[in-house]
Amino acid sequence: MSRIPPLTLIIVPFVLVVALIGGTVWHYGYRQALDQLERRGTADMSLVLGGLVSDLQRYRDQAVALAEHPTLTALSAPATPHQQDAARRLLVAAADRTGATALFYVDAMGDVLAGSQARAPEGLARSQYFTRAMDGALGTAHGLEGAAKRRVFQFAAPSFASNGKVQGALVVLADAENVEFGWRGSQTAVFLVDDDGRVFMSNRSELLGWRGVRNDDLLIPPEGAPVGFARQSVGPHDIWQVDLGPYLPKRALQLGQDLPRIGMTGVALVDVAPARQIAALQAGAVAGGLLFFGALLVLTQERRRSLARANAQLEGRVAERTATLTQTNLALRREVRERQEAEAALKRAQAELVQAGKLRALGQMSAGISHELNQPLMAIRQFAANGGAFLKRQEPEKAAENLGRIDEMAHRMSRIIRNLRAFVRNENEPMGQVDIMQVIESALEMTGERLRGDGVDVAWQAPPAPVWVRGGEVRLGQVMINLITNAADAMTDSDTKRLEIAVEGGAPVTVRLRDTGPGIEEPEKIFDPFYSTKLVGAGDGMGLGLSISYGLVQSFGGKITGANTGSGAEFTVELDPWAETARPAEQREGAA
Ligand code: ADP
Repeated sequence: MSRIPPLTLIIVPFVLVVALIGGTVWHYGYRQALDQLERRGTADMSLVLGGLVSDLQRYRDQAVALAEHPTLTALSAPATPHQQDAARRLLVAAADRTGATALFYVDAMGDVLAGSQARAPEGLARSQYFTRAMDGALGTAHGLEGAAKRRVFQFAAPSFASNGKVQGALVVLADAENVEFGWRGSQTAVFLVDDDGRVFMSNRSELLGWRGVRNDDLLIPPEGAPVGFARQSVGPHDIWQVDLGPYLPKRALQLGQDLPRIGMTGVALVDVAPARQIAALQAGAVAGGLLFFGALLVLTQERRRSLARANAQLEGRVAERTATLTQTNLALRREVRERQEAEAALKRAQAELVQAGKLRALGQMSAGISHELNQPLMAIRQFAANGGAFLKRQEPEKAAENLGRIDEMAHRMSRIIRNLRAFVRNENEPMGQVDIMQVIESALEMTGERLRGDGVDVAWQAPPAPVWVRGGEVRLGQVMINLITNAADAMTDSDTKRLEIAVEGGAPVTVRLRDTGPGIEEPEKIFDPFYSTKLVGAGDGMGLGLSISYGLVQSFGGKITGANTGSGAEFTVELDPWAETARPAEQREGAA
């Protein structure tokens, strides 16, 4: 089912209301215009009928006046030809004066005594108007006269004898066409209907002779089939709809007026087309105005609606975007938190690894260390026994010399133990001024047993003066031990086992360790955690030594790299030299 858009719901009822209002205005305007038409039509008809009545009155007066004329009354007695001629001339002159068709003076039998024309009216003696004149009253009638069936008005005025009896009558025949002539100019179609319902006179000749014009919805032409017509009542007005020819309105307001004096009814047909035009104009203007304002209203409404729609859409989009942004924000925060946690975990893991690395190195070195400590211990025992023997032999100088050697050995042992303690200590060692020479010395001391055992030839010239760098002594020591151990591991199967260690001062301070091993297999991977070419599980490689060393050197602001020389591997450690200007402050820190 299709959804009807709301606009249609507004427009359709609005158009219906406008049509209703337009219709009402049309109806009201039509009635008003019909009222006006009726007034005008009535005036027109009154004018026409008034003229007719006054015309007829003239003939009537003439008949009455001439009926007593002595020239005519003289004819009642046998008259001379002279008298007859005078009477005839009188009548012709009278006819000329009023435009009457013919005037006759007749006796009581209806025989013509004198006439303005020779031919007497047909059947006069039997006619109703003549009979009435013989009764002493004025007789009036209308009818068709002669073979030509001319429409005439007939008047007969009695002529009284001196004894008071009616001796004759003066008959006037007036042609209806002459009277009609004056009506032709009138716009309104007017016609007279006689008592028989026949149109006797009209200013539209096509209507003459029609019958049944009033009270019947049928019109019967003189010849041919009857014509039907529709009647419509608009308020008090009677509207006819009929096609009676090109000169008669198709739709006409019908007005009637009784004319009892001549026994006829006057009817006018006024064209209602102007009234309909006026009504249509008024209705059109009102409907047009309403539609115009309605369209303006609808347009405004539609504009407002589309604005509201756009607004809602925008708000929706903003809300959507805000929601997305909020979500992204939340996700970012979560990510940041996770990263921070991961970083902390990494730091913890790194610290643990450093410690594990140290312990592992210690484990690896434990055999060497015990040998390192055992050797001076055995020597001490030897020197102590020798010292005792020298004392027994009363050779105190030699005994003292032995005691001095014992002291030396004890010192050496305590140094080794101190180194070990420092190495294993898991504390946050502060950064400070470190003598790299001393660090290398200690590392060599701790790995000395291993190197000697493997038969490694160490090329290391202890320099005369300390070289100061920035770092942590224990951590740097761990780095050096790691590099030395790796070199020894690499050279296990080498024929020549030589480890060169060299330090260059300056900025940066560079420590180089060269071995004569097989070289690095994959130099780009050696600093990755858990990368090891050593047998896993044999307790040899964890692949963490170099990655830990890398992190440590980097934390001092330095750099560690590994490369192949062609005859082995070379590891380079670059460190920041201890700056003179920074020294006092950091020294104070260290002292505190
Ligand atoms: P591990 O010693 O446990 O294997 P390291 O991180 O210390 O872990 O070393 C990683 C790898 O780097 C070694 O397995 C080895 O392949 C390579 N490597 C380190 N030092 C040398 C060297 N001096 N000569 C050749 N290869 C070396």
